Amino acid sequence: MPTVYRSLSPDLILHNGRIAAPDAQLTDGDRTAIAVRGDRILVIGTDEALVPLAAPHTRLIDLGGRTVIPGIHDSHAHLIEVGAKLSLIRLDECQSPEEMMELVRARAADTPPGHWIVGVGWNEGNFRDGRLPIRQDIDPATSQHPVMLQRFFNTDLVNSYALRLAGITRNTPDPAEGRIERDAEGEPNGLLRAKAKGLARRLLPKPSERELISSVVLGCRALNKFGITSVIDPGLYPAEIRAYQRARDTGLLSVRMNLMPNWHGFRDDEHEAQLDCRASELGIYSGLGDEWLRIGGLKMAIDGGTTPHTAYMYEPFEGETEVKNFNRLDPDQLYRYFRRAQELNWDVGIHCCGDRAQDIAVDALSRVAQELPVADTRHSIIHAYFPTEHALQLMGRHHIAAVIQPTFLYWEGDLIFRDVGRQRALNYKPARRYLDHGVVTGASSDVESTVSADPFVALYALVTRKNNLGHLVGPDQAIDRHEALHAYTMAGAWLTREEKLKGSLEPGKLADMVVLDQDYFTVPDESIRDVHALMTVIGGNIVWQQEGIFHDHRP
Ligand SMILES: [Zn+2]
Repeated sequence: MPTVYRSLSPDLILHNGRIAAPDAQLTDGDRTAIAVRGDRILVIGTDEALVPLAAPHTRLIDLGGRTVIPGIHDSHAHLIEVGAKLSLIRLDECQSPEEMMELVRARAADTPPGHWIVGVGWNEGNFRDGRLPIRQDIDPATSQHPVMLQRFFNTDLVNSYALRLAGITRNTPDPAEGRIERDAEGEPNGLLRAKAKGLARRLLPKPSERELISSVVLGCRALNKFGITSVIDPGLYPAEIRAYQRARDTGLLSVRMNLMPNWHGFRDDEHEAQLDCRASELGIYSGLGDEWLRIGGLKMAIDGGTTPHTAYMYEPFEGETEVKNFNRLDPDQLYRYFRRAQELNWDVGIHCCGDRAQDIAVDALSRVAQELPVADTRHSIIHAYFPTEHALQLMGRHHIAAVIQPTFLYWEGDLIFRDVGRQRALNYKPARRYLDHGVVTGASSDVESTVSADPFVALYALVTRKNNLGHLVGPDQAIDRHEALHAYTMAGAWLTREEKLKGSLEPGKLADMVVLDQDYFTVPDESIRDVHALMTVIGGNIVWQQEGIFHDHRP
Protein backbone atom coordinates (compact mmCIF):
# COMPACT_ATOMS: atom_id res chain seq x y z
CA MET A 1 0.00 0.00 0.00
CA PRO A 2 1.40 3.47 -0.86
CA THR A 3 2.43 5.38 2.27
CA VAL A 4 -0.07 8.12 1.58
CA TYR A 5 -2.97 5.65 2.01
CA ARG A 6 -1.24 3.85 4.83
CA SER A 7 -1.29 7.10 6.81
CA LEU A 8 -5.07 7.24 6.38
CA SER A 9 -5.82 3.76 7.69
CA PRO A 10 -6.38 2.97 11.37
CA ASP A 11 -3.47 2.08 13.65
CA LEU A 12 -5.72 0.12 15.98
CA ILE A 13 -9.12 -1.53 15.60
CA LEU A 14 -10.93 -3.06 18.57
CA HIS A 15 -13.76 -5.22 17.26
CA ASN A 16 -16.32 -7.84 18.23
CA GLY A 17 -17.20 -5.76 21.26
CA ARG A 18 -19.84 -3.41 22.56
CA ILE A 19 -18.76 0.22 22.25
CA ALA A 20 -20.49 2.57 24.66
CA ALA A 21 -20.84 5.53 22.36
CA PRO A 22 -23.26 8.33 23.18
CA ASP A 23 -24.66 8.45 19.65
CA ALA A 24 -28.39 7.72 20.06
CA GLN A 25 -28.67 6.93 16.34
CA LEU A 26 -26.63 3.78 16.75
CA THR A 27 -28.13 0.68 18.30
CA ASP A 28 -25.91 -1.89 20.03
CA GLY A 29 -25.53 -3.99 16.92
CA ASP A 30 -24.28 -0.93 15.03
CA ARG A 31 -21.31 -0.31 17.26
CA THR A 32 -19.22 -3.39 17.74
CA ALA A 33 -15.93 -1.86 16.62
CA ILE A 34 -13.85 1.25 17.14
CA ALA A 35 -10.99 2.37 14.91
CA VAL A 36 -8.17 4.63 16.08
CA ARG A 37 -5.62 6.60 14.09
CA GLY A 38 -2.80 8.34 15.95
CA ASP A 39 -4.21 9.31 19.34
CA ARG A 40 -7.75 9.95 18.08
CA ILE A 41 -10.91 7.94 17.51
CA LEU A 42 -11.44 7.64 13.77
CA VAL A 43 -14.79 5.93 13.55
CA ILE A 44 -17.19 3.69 15.49
CA GLY A 45 -19.32 1.14 13.67
CA THR A 46 -19.86 -2.53 12.85
CA ASP A 47 -17.17 -5.17 12.39
CA GLU A 48 -18.34 -5.54 8.79
CA ALA A 49 -17.67 -1.86 8.10
CA LEU A 50 -14.51 -1.34 10.15
CA VAL A 51 -12.41 -4.50 9.99
CA PRO A 52 -11.89 -4.12 6.21
CA LEU A 53 -10.28 -0.71 6.90
CA ALA A 54 -7.29 -2.50 8.40
CA ALA A 55 -3.98 -2.01 6.59
CA PRO A 56 -0.93 -4.26 7.07
CA HIS A 57 0.29 -2.09 9.95
CA THR A 58 -3.07 -2.04 11.78
CA ARG A 59 -3.32 -3.75 15.16
CA LEU A 60 -6.57 -5.69 15.31
CA ILE A 61 -7.84 -6.88 18.67
CA ASP A 62 -10.84 -9.18 19.08
CA LEU A 63 -12.70 -8.15 22.24
CA GLY A 64 -14.67 -11.38 22.51
CA GLY A 65 -17.92 -9.48 22.98
CA ARG A 66 -16.67 -7.30 25.85
CA THR A 67 -17.78 -3.74 26.60
CA VAL A 68 -15.68 -0.63 25.99
CA ILE A 69 -16.37 2.55 27.95
CA PRO A 70 -14.60 5.94 27.85
CA GLY A 71 -11.49 6.25 30.03
CA ILE A 72 -12.33 6.99 33.67
CA HIS A 73 -11.69 10.56 34.81
CA ASP A 74 -11.04 10.72 38.56
CA SER A 75 -11.79 14.36 39.41
CA HIS A 76 -10.01 14.41 42.77
CA ALA A 77 -7.15 12.01 43.43
CA HIS A 78 -3.76 12.65 45.02
CA LEU A 79 -1.93 10.61 42.41
CA ILE A 80 1.57 11.64 43.46
CA GLU A 81 0.78 10.56 47.05
CA VAL A 82 -0.52 7.22 45.80
CA GLY A 83 2.86 6.71 44.13
CA ALA A 84 4.82 7.94 47.16
CA LYS A 85 3.09 5.41 49.41
CA LEU A 86 3.82 2.62 46.95
CA SER A 87 7.54 3.22 47.30
CA LEU A 88 7.32 2.73 51.08
CA ILE A 89 7.14 -0.64 52.82
CA ARG A 90 3.50 -1.77 52.85
CA LEU A 91 2.61 -3.24 56.22
CA ASP A 92 -1.13 -3.69 55.68
CA GLU A 93 -0.89 -7.46 55.44
CA CYS A 94 1.48 -8.02 58.38
CA GLN A 95 0.14 -10.41 61.00
CA SER A 96 2.84 -9.89 63.61
CA PRO A 97 5.59 -7.45 64.65
CA GLU A 98 8.14 -10.08 63.51
CA GLU A 99 6.80 -9.87 59.95
CA MET A 100 7.23 -6.09 60.02
CA MET A 101 10.78 -6.53 61.35
CA GLU A 102 11.65 -8.90 58.49
CA LEU A 103 10.36 -6.44 55.90
CA VAL A 104 12.49 -3.70 57.46
CA ARG A 105 15.52 -6.00 57.50
CA ALA A 106 15.07 -6.72 53.78
CA ARG A 107 14.76 -3.02 52.95
CA ALA A 108 17.78 -2.16 55.11
CA ALA A 109 19.93 -4.47 52.99
CA ASP A 110 19.73 -2.07 50.06
CA THR A 111 19.38 1.25 51.85
CA PRO A 112 22.53 3.31 52.52
CA PRO A 113 23.33 3.56 56.25
CA GLY A 114 21.80 6.61 57.91
CA HIS A 115 18.91 6.87 55.42
CA TRP A 116 15.35 6.63 56.71
CA ILE A 117 13.34 3.46 56.22
CA VAL A 118 9.61 4.15 56.28
CA GLY A 119 6.70 1.73 56.25
CA VAL A 120 2.94 2.37 56.30
CA GLY A 121 -0.30 0.67 57.16
CA TRP A 122 0.25 -1.62 60.14
CA ASN A 123 -2.73 -2.43 62.27
CA GLU A 124 -2.38 -4.41 65.50
CA GLY A 125 -5.94 -5.61 64.88
CA ASN A 126 -4.43 -7.87 62.20
CA PHE A 127 -1.81 -9.30 64.57
CA ARG A 128 -2.39 -12.77 65.92
CA ASP A 129 -1.97 -11.59 69.54
CA GLY A 130 -3.32 -8.04 68.99
CA ARG A 131 -0.37 -6.59 70.94
CA LEU A 132 0.96 -3.14 70.09
CA PRO A 133 4.50 -3.41 68.67
CA ILE A 134 7.36 -1.58 70.44
CA ARG A 135 10.85 -0.52 69.38
CA GLN A 136 12.42 -3.73 70.71
CA ASP A 137 10.35 -5.64 68.14
CA ILE A 138 11.97 -3.85 65.21
CA ASP A 139 15.43 -2.97 66.56
CA PRO A 140 16.91 -6.33 65.47
CA ALA A 141 16.27 -5.37 61.80
CA THR A 142 18.99 -2.72 61.72
CA SER A 143 21.24 -0.61 63.90
CA GLN A 144 22.35 1.51 60.92
CA HIS A 145 19.08 3.18 59.90
CA PRO A 146 16.35 5.29 61.47
CA VAL A 147 13.06 3.44 60.99
CA MET A 148 9.49 4.77 61.11
CA LEU A 149 6.53 2.44 60.73
CA GLN A 150 3.27 4.33 60.47
CA ARG A 151 0.11 2.69 61.79
CA PHE A 152 -2.87 2.99 59.42
CA PHE A 153 -4.04 5.83 61.64
CA ASN A 154 -2.78 8.13 64.38
CA THR A 155 0.36 6.36 65.66
CA ASP A 156 3.97 5.89 64.50
CA LEU A 157 6.41 3.25 65.73
CA VAL A 158 10.07 4.31 65.54
CA ASN A 159 13.20 2.32 66.34
CA SER A 160 15.84 3.21 68.94
CA TYR A 161 18.06 4.86 66.30
CA ALA A 162 15.20 7.19 65.30
CA LEU A 163 14.42 8.04 68.94
CA ARG A 164 18.07 9.05 69.44
CA LEU A 165 18.04 11.09 66.23
CA ALA A 166 14.88 12.90 67.34
CA GLY A 167 16.38 13.51 70.79
CA ILE A 168 13.45 11.78 72.49
CA THR A 169 14.46 10.55 75.96
CA ARG A 170 12.76 9.68 79.22
CA ASN A 171 12.96 13.39 80.07
CA THR A 172 11.16 14.61 76.94
CA PRO A 173 7.73 15.92 77.92
CA ASP A 174 4.65 14.91 75.91
CA PRO A 175 3.71 17.60 73.39
CA ALA A 176 0.26 19.17 73.57
CA GLU A 177 -2.33 16.79 72.07
CA GLY A 178 0.22 14.03 71.75
CA ARG A 179 1.82 11.23 73.76
CA ILE A 180 5.24 9.59 73.86
CA GLU A 181 4.42 6.07 75.04
CA ARG A 182 6.76 4.73 77.75
CA ASP A 183 7.58 1.34 79.26
CA ALA A 184 7.37 0.38 82.95
CA GLU A 185 10.78 2.02 83.59
CA GLY A 186 9.64 5.29 81.98
CA GLU A 187 11.76 4.83 78.84
CA PRO A 188 10.12 5.76 75.50
CA ASN A 189 9.00 2.49 73.86
CA GLY A 190 8.97 3.83 70.30
CA LEU A 191 5.24 4.55 69.96
CA LEU A 192 4.44 8.17 69.20
CA ARG A 193 0.80 9.16 69.25
CA ALA A 194 -1.06 12.05 67.59
CA LYS A 195 0.96 15.29 67.75
CA ALA A 196 3.99 13.41 69.16
CA LYS A 197 4.46 11.88 65.68
CA GLY A 198 5.74 15.27 64.58
CA LEU A 199 8.84 14.90 66.82
CA ALA A 200 10.21 12.27 64.42
CA ARG A 201 8.34 13.09 61.21
CA ARG A 202 9.93 16.51 61.00
CA LEU A 203 13.25 14.74 60.44
CA LEU A 204 12.11 12.91 57.30
CA PRO A 205 13.95 14.39 54.32
CA LYS A 206 11.96 16.18 51.63
CA PRO A 207 11.68 13.89 48.59
CA SER A 208 14.14 14.62 45.81
CA GLU A 209 12.95 15.45 42.30
CA ARG A 210 13.86 11.92 41.23
CA GLU A 211 11.77 10.46 44.01
CA LEU A 212 8.83 12.71 43.13
CA ILE A 213 9.00 11.67 39.47
CA SER A 214 9.13 8.04 40.52
CA SER A 215 6.00 8.65 42.66
CA VAL A 216 4.24 10.10 39.60
CA VAL A 217 5.13 7.03 37.53
CA LEU A 218 4.06 4.56 40.25
CA GLY A 219 0.84 6.50 40.85
CA CYS A 220 -0.03 6.49 37.13
CA ARG A 221 0.53 2.74 36.84
CA ALA A 222 -1.53 2.00 39.94
CA LEU A 223 -4.48 4.00 38.61
CA ASN A 224 -4.25 2.64 35.04
CA LYS A 225 -5.18 -0.78 36.43
CA PHE A 226 -8.58 0.61 37.38
CA GLY A 227 -9.23 2.03 33.90
CA ILE A 228 -8.34 5.54 35.02
CA THR A 229 -6.98 7.66 32.18
CA SER A 230 -7.40 11.21 33.54
CA VAL A 231 -6.90 12.66 37.01
CA ILE A 232 -7.22 16.03 38.69
CA ASP A 233 -4.49 16.15 41.37
CA PRO A 234 -5.48 18.82 43.88
CA GLY A 235 -3.33 20.89 46.18
CA LEU A 236 0.13 20.71 44.67
CA TYR A 237 3.29 22.60 45.56
CA PRO A 238 5.92 23.81 43.08
CA ALA A 239 8.28 20.83 43.50
CA GLU A 240 5.43 18.43 42.68
CA ILE A 241 4.29 20.45 39.69
CA ARG A 242 7.89 20.45 38.42
CA ALA A 243 8.06 16.67 38.84
CA TYR A 244 4.87 16.23 36.84
CA GLN A 245 6.27 18.38 34.05
CA ARG A 246 9.53 16.42 34.04
CA ALA A 247 7.55 13.18 33.86
CA ARG A 248 5.52 14.55 30.98
CA ASP A 249 8.62 15.76 29.09
CA THR A 250 10.32 12.40 29.40
CA GLY A 251 7.25 10.46 28.27
CA LEU A 252 6.64 8.88 31.67
CA LEU A 253 3.02 9.94 32.21
CA SER A 254 0.39 7.27 31.61
CA VAL A 255 -2.49 9.32 33.03
CA ARG A 256 -3.58 12.67 31.61
CA MET A 257 -3.05 15.10 34.46
CA ASN A 258 -4.76 18.28 35.52
CA LEU A 259 -2.81 20.01 38.28
CA MET A 260 -4.41 22.22 40.91
CA PRO A 261 -1.87 24.44 42.69
CA ASN A 262 -2.41 24.94 46.41
CA TRP A 263 -3.84 28.30 47.29
CA HIS A 264 -5.57 29.67 50.39
CA GLY A 265 -6.43 27.45 53.35
CA PHE A 266 -3.48 25.10 53.66
CA ARG A 267 -0.27 26.19 55.29
CA ASP A 268 0.25 28.72 58.02
CA ASP A 269 3.75 29.49 56.78
CA GLU A 270 2.56 30.82 53.42
CA HIS A 271 1.53 34.42 53.70
CA GLU A 272 -0.97 36.21 51.55
CA ALA A 273 1.50 38.04 49.29
CA GLN A 274 3.18 34.75 48.44
CA LEU A 275 -0.12 33.13 47.51
CA ASP A 276 -1.15 36.10 45.42
CA CYS A 277 2.18 35.83 43.65
CA ARG A 278 1.54 32.14 42.90
CA ALA A 279 -1.67 33.06 41.08
CA SER A 280 -0.51 36.20 39.33
CA GLU A 281 3.20 36.48 38.64
CA LEU A 282 3.59 34.16 35.67
CA GLY A 283 0.46 35.37 33.92
CA ILE A 284 -0.84 31.84 33.48
CA TYR A 285 -4.27 30.55 34.45
CA SER A 286 -6.47 27.44 34.37
CA GLY A 287 -6.41 25.62 31.06
CA LEU A 288 -2.79 26.18 30.06
CA GLY A 289 -1.10 23.02 28.85
CA ASP A 290 -1.86 20.18 26.50
CA GLU A 291 -3.85 16.97 26.56
CA TRP A 292 -1.24 15.28 28.82
CA LEU A 293 -0.58 17.98 31.37
CA ARG A 294 -2.72 20.98 32.10
CA ILE A 295 -2.93 23.61 34.80
CA GLY A 296 -6.28 23.36 36.58
CA GLY A 297 -8.01 25.53 39.13
CA LEU A 298 -6.58 26.89 42.35
CA LYS A 299 -7.18 24.51 45.26
CA MET A 300 -8.54 26.11 48.40
CA ALA A 301 -9.97 24.77 51.65
CA ILE A 302 -12.37 26.20 54.16
CA ASP A 303 -13.19 23.55 56.77
CA GLY A 304 -12.29 20.02 57.92
CA GLY A 305 -14.25 16.77 57.66
CA THR A 306 -17.14 14.95 59.30
CA THR A 307 -15.21 12.06 60.87
CA PRO A 308 -12.99 14.32 63.03
CA HIS A 309 -16.01 16.62 63.56
CA THR A 310 -14.23 19.59 62.00
CA ALA A 311 -16.64 20.27 59.12
CA TYR A 312 -18.39 23.63 59.52
CA MET A 313 -22.07 22.75 60.08
CA TYR A 314 -25.22 24.69 61.00
CA GLU A 315 -26.10 22.16 63.69
CA PRO A 316 -23.69 20.39 66.08
CA PHE A 317 -22.39 16.89 65.35
CA GLU A 318 -24.16 14.02 67.06
CA GLY A 319 -23.28 13.90 70.75
CA GLU A 320 -22.05 17.52 70.79
CA THR A 321 -23.92 20.56 72.01
CA GLU A 322 -22.34 23.41 70.11
CA VAL A 323 -21.00 24.16 66.66
CA LYS A 324 -17.23 24.62 66.70
CA ASN A 325 -15.23 26.51 64.14
CA PHE A 326 -12.08 24.79 62.91
CA ASN A 327 -12.01 26.73 59.65
CA ARG A 328 -8.71 26.91 57.81
CA LEU A 329 -9.35 30.37 56.48
CA ASP A 330 -11.45 33.34 57.48
CA PRO A 331 -14.78 32.98 55.63
CA ASP A 332 -15.02 36.78 55.45
CA GLN A 333 -11.96 36.79 53.19
CA LEU A 334 -13.39 34.29 50.71
CA TYR A 335 -15.12 36.86 48.53
CA ARG A 336 -11.85 38.77 48.14
CA TYR A 337 -9.86 35.62 47.22
CA PHE A 338 -12.48 34.44 44.75
CA ARG A 339 -12.67 37.87 43.16
CA ARG A 340 -8.90 37.94 42.78
CA ALA A 341 -8.96 34.49 41.13
CA GLN A 342 -11.72 35.60 38.78
CA GLU A 343 -9.79 38.77 37.83
CA LEU A 344 -6.82 36.59 36.94
CA ASN A 345 -8.97 34.07 35.02
CA TRP A 346 -8.38 31.16 37.41
CA ASP A 347 -10.99 28.58 38.22
CA VAL A 348 -11.15 27.68 41.91
CA GLY A 349 -11.96 24.38 43.58
CA ILE A 350 -12.69 24.75 47.28
CA HIS A 351 -12.85 21.99 49.89
CA CYS A 352 -16.18 22.33 51.75
CA CYS A 353 -17.57 19.51 53.87
CA GLY A 354 -20.04 21.26 56.17
CA ASP A 355 -23.42 22.61 55.00
CA ARG A 356 -22.56 26.00 56.45
CA ALA A 357 -19.11 26.09 54.84
CA GLN A 358 -20.67 25.22 51.49
CA ASP A 359 -23.26 28.02 51.79
CA ILE A 360 -20.51 30.51 52.61
CA ALA A 361 -18.41 29.46 49.63
CA VAL A 362 -21.32 29.30 47.21
CA ASP A 363 -22.59 32.72 48.32
CA ALA A 364 -19.17 34.29 47.83
CA LEU A 365 -18.64 32.62 44.44
CA SER A 366 -22.10 33.68 43.28
CA ARG A 367 -21.48 37.26 44.33
CA VAL A 368 -18.25 37.30 42.29
CA ALA A 369 -20.05 35.72 39.33
CA GLN A 370 -22.59 38.54 39.38
CA GLU A 371 -20.18 41.40 39.97
CA LEU A 372 -17.42 40.26 37.68
CA PRO A 373 -19.00 38.02 35.08
CA VAL A 374 -16.54 35.87 33.16
CA ALA A 375 -17.80 33.61 30.41
CA ASP A 376 -17.34 29.91 30.99
CA THR A 377 -15.84 29.52 34.45
CA ARG A 378 -15.34 26.01 35.86
CA HIS A 379 -15.42 26.60 39.61
CA SER A 380 -16.17 23.70 41.90
CA ILE A 381 -17.09 22.76 45.45
CA ILE A 382 -14.92 19.81 46.44
CA HIS A 383 -16.51 17.14 48.71
CA ALA A 384 -19.81 19.08 48.78
CA TYR A 385 -21.36 16.79 51.43
CA PHE A 386 -24.55 18.55 52.49
CA PRO A 387 -25.84 21.19 50.09
CA THR A 388 -28.72 23.31 51.30
CA GLU A 389 -31.55 24.08 48.86
CA HIS A 390 -30.07 27.58 48.69
CA ALA A 391 -26.64 26.23 47.66
CA LEU A 392 -28.18 23.94 45.04
CA GLN A 393 -30.08 26.81 43.44
CA LEU A 394 -27.02 29.03 43.24
CA MET A 395 -24.72 26.25 42.01
CA GLY A 396 -27.16 25.47 39.21
CA ARG A 397 -27.56 29.12 38.28
CA HIS A 398 -23.87 30.03 38.29
CA HIS A 399 -22.48 26.76 36.90
CA ILE A 400 -20.58 25.87 40.05
CA ALA A 401 -19.77 22.15 39.93
CA ALA A 402 -19.80 19.61 42.77
CA VAL A 403 -16.90 17.15 43.04
CA ILE A 404 -18.09 14.26 45.19
CA GLN A 405 -16.48 11.03 46.47
CA PRO A 406 -18.81 8.03 46.29
CA THR A 407 -15.84 6.12 47.68
CA PHE A 408 -16.39 7.75 51.09
CA LEU A 409 -20.04 6.73 51.04
CA TYR A 410 -18.94 3.15 50.38
CA TRP A 411 -15.80 2.66 52.44
CA GLU A 412 -16.67 4.60 55.55
CA GLY A 413 -19.46 2.23 56.52
CA ASP A 414 -21.84 3.67 59.08
CA LEU A 415 -19.56 6.45 60.33
CA ILE A 416 -21.73 9.06 58.66
CA PHE A 417 -24.71 8.01 60.79
CA ARG A 418 -22.59 8.23 63.94
CA ASP A 419 -21.32 11.69 63.01
CA VAL A 420 -24.41 13.49 61.68
CA GLY A 421 -27.34 11.20 62.50
CA ARG A 422 -29.85 9.44 60.23
CA GLN A 423 -31.73 12.55 59.11
CA ARG A 424 -28.78 14.55 57.82
CA ALA A 425 -27.23 11.43 56.27
CA LEU A 426 -30.20 11.32 53.87
CA ASN A 427 -28.68 14.38 52.19
CA TYR A 428 -25.07 13.09 52.17
CA LYS A 429 -23.44 13.68 48.76
CA PRO A 430 -26.88 13.86 47.16
CA ALA A 431 -26.06 13.16 43.52
CA ARG A 432 -29.75 13.02 42.53
CA ARG A 433 -30.44 16.49 43.92
CA TYR A 434 -27.31 17.90 42.33
CA LEU A 435 -28.25 16.60 38.89
CA ASP A 436 -31.88 17.69 39.27
CA HIS A 437 -30.65 21.21 39.97
CA GLY A 438 -28.51 21.20 36.84
CA VAL A 439 -25.24 21.07 38.81
CA VAL A 440 -22.30 19.48 36.99
CA THR A 441 -21.32 16.60 39.29
CA GLY A 442 -17.86 15.09 38.98
CA ALA A 443 -17.10 11.79 40.70
CA SER A 444 -13.75 11.03 42.30
CA SER A 445 -11.97 8.72 44.72
CA ASP A 446 -9.80 11.10 46.81
CA VAL A 447 -7.12 8.44 47.17
CA GLU A 448 -4.92 8.38 49.36
CA SER A 449 -7.64 9.59 51.73
CA THR A 450 -9.70 6.47 51.08
CA VAL A 451 -9.24 2.73 50.75
CA SER A 452 -9.16 2.37 46.97
CA ALA A 453 -9.45 4.30 43.72
CA ASP A 454 -11.62 1.53 42.21
CA PRO A 455 -14.20 3.47 40.14
CA PHE A 456 -16.58 0.51 39.93
CA VAL A 457 -17.00 0.43 43.69
CA ALA A 458 -17.74 4.15 43.47
CA LEU A 459 -20.18 3.66 40.58
CA TYR A 460 -21.87 0.95 42.64
CA ALA A 461 -22.28 3.41 45.53
CA LEU A 462 -23.75 6.05 43.21
CA VAL A 463 -26.27 3.62 41.74
CA THR A 464 -27.23 1.64 44.86
CA ARG A 465 -26.39 4.15 47.65
CA LYS A 466 -25.15 1.17 49.66
CA ASN A 467 -22.06 1.21 51.85
CA ASN A 468 -19.62 -1.66 52.40
CA LEU A 469 -21.83 -3.01 55.19
CA GLY A 470 -24.77 -3.21 52.77
CA HIS A 471 -26.61 -0.38 54.53
CA LEU A 472 -28.48 2.26 52.53
CA VAL A 473 -27.27 5.86 52.80
CA GLY A 474 -29.95 8.24 51.47
CA PRO A 475 -31.38 5.86 48.83
CA ASP A 476 -33.42 8.66 47.24
CA GLN A 477 -30.16 10.13 46.01
CA ALA A 478 -29.36 7.19 43.70
CA ILE A 479 -28.64 8.02 40.07
CA ASP A 480 -28.76 5.66 37.09
CA ARG A 481 -25.75 3.94 35.54
CA HIS A 482 -25.46 6.32 32.62
CA GLU A 483 -25.59 9.34 34.92
CA ALA A 484 -23.02 7.74 37.23
CA LEU A 485 -20.62 6.99 34.37
CA HIS A 486 -21.13 10.50 33.04
CA ALA A 487 -19.99 11.80 36.46
CA TYR A 488 -16.83 9.70 36.08
CA THR A 489 -16.13 10.74 32.47
CA MET A 490 -17.73 13.80 30.83
CA ALA A 491 -18.18 15.79 34.03
CA GLY A 492 -14.45 15.49 34.69
CA ALA A 493 -13.66 16.62 31.16
CA TRP A 494 -15.90 19.65 31.71
CA LEU A 495 -14.04 20.53 34.92
CA THR A 496 -10.72 20.59 33.05
CA ARG A 497 -12.19 22.45 30.03
CA GLU A 498 -11.65 19.43 27.81
CA GLU A 499 -15.18 18.25 27.06
CA LYS A 500 -14.54 18.61 23.33
CA LEU A 501 -11.38 16.52 23.62
CA LYS A 502 -12.37 13.56 25.81
CA GLY A 503 -15.00 12.16 28.19
CA SER A 504 -16.95 10.16 25.58
CA LEU A 505 -16.20 7.81 22.70
CA GLU A 506 -16.76 9.91 19.58
CA PRO A 507 -14.85 10.31 16.34
CA GLY A 508 -12.25 13.08 16.66
CA LYS A 509 -11.87 12.71 20.41
CA LEU A 510 -8.84 11.23 22.17
CA ALA A 511 -8.81 7.43 22.05
CA ASP A 512 -8.94 6.97 25.84
CA MET A 513 -10.95 3.88 26.68
CA VAL A 514 -11.34 0.87 28.93
CA VAL A 515 -12.31 -2.70 28.07
CA LEU A 516 -14.30 -4.32 30.89
CA ASP A 517 -14.56 -7.91 32.05
CA GLN A 518 -18.35 -7.63 32.47
CA ASP A 519 -20.91 -5.35 30.89
CA TYR A 520 -21.30 -2.42 33.31
CA PHE A 521 -24.62 -1.52 31.71
CA THR A 522 -26.37 -4.86 32.15
CA VAL A 523 -24.88 -6.68 35.17
CA PRO A 524 -27.20 -6.81 38.21
CA ASP A 525 -26.85 -3.75 40.51
CA GLU A 526 -25.05 -5.82 43.14
CA SER A 527 -22.37 -6.83 40.61
CA ILE A 528 -21.37 -3.33 39.51
CA ARG A 529 -18.67 -3.27 42.18
CA ASP A 530 -17.23 -6.51 40.77
CA VAL A 531 -16.67 -5.07 37.28
CA HIS A 532 -12.96 -4.71 36.45
CA ALA A 533 -10.86 -3.14 33.76
CA LEU A 534 -9.12 -5.67 31.50
CA MET A 535 -7.38 -3.16 29.26
CA THR A 536 -6.71 0.56 29.51
CA VAL A 537 -5.99 2.52 26.34
CA ILE A 538 -4.77 6.12 26.31
CA GLY A 539 -4.43 7.99 23.05
CA GLY A 540 -4.57 4.68 21.17
CA ASN A 541 -1.78 3.11 23.28
CA ILE A 542 -2.46 0.20 25.57
CA VAL A 543 -0.99 1.38 28.87
CA TRP A 544 -2.14 -1.62 30.86
CA GLN A 545 -3.84 -4.95 30.24
CA GLN A 546 -4.58 -8.13 32.10
CA GLU A 547 -2.15 -10.67 30.73
CA GLY A 548 -3.16 -13.51 28.47
CA ILE A 549 -6.62 -12.28 27.48
CA PHE A 550 -6.26 -10.26 24.30
CA HIS A 551 -4.16 -11.14 21.27
CA ASP A 552 -3.36 -9.05 18.25
CA HIS A 553 -4.21 -10.50 14.92
CA ARG A 554 -3.39 -9.25 11.46
CA PRO A 555 -5.94 -8.38 8.77
ZN1 LIG B 1 -8.25 15.27 48.70
